[in-house]
Amino acid sequence: MQNLPVGSKVCQCSACGEYFTAVTAFDLHRSGPWEARICLDPASLGLVKNARGRWGKPGTVRTWPSPKAQGEA
Ligand SMILES: [Zn+2]
Repeated sequence: MQNLPVGSKVCQCSACGEYFTAVTAFDLHRSGPWEARICLDPASLGLVKNARGRWGKPGTVRTWPSPKAQGEA
C-alpha cells in the first residue's frame, strides 16, 4: 500500500483494493445495504482509470498527460 499525502482526497477501497480519485467515485462502486455492501466493477459504472491507476468520473480525471491545461482561457 502506498502512502498518501495528508489531506488527499484519494481513497482506497479496503474491500477490493482499488484506488479512487474522490469519495464520490468510491461511493459509486459500492452497492447494497450497509451490512452487506459489495463492490461493483468500476468500469461497468462508467468510471475511468487515470494515469496513476485511480478510478474517477470521466471528465474529472486526466487519463493521459496533457501538454496544456484544458478549460482555461
Ligand atoms: Zn471496492
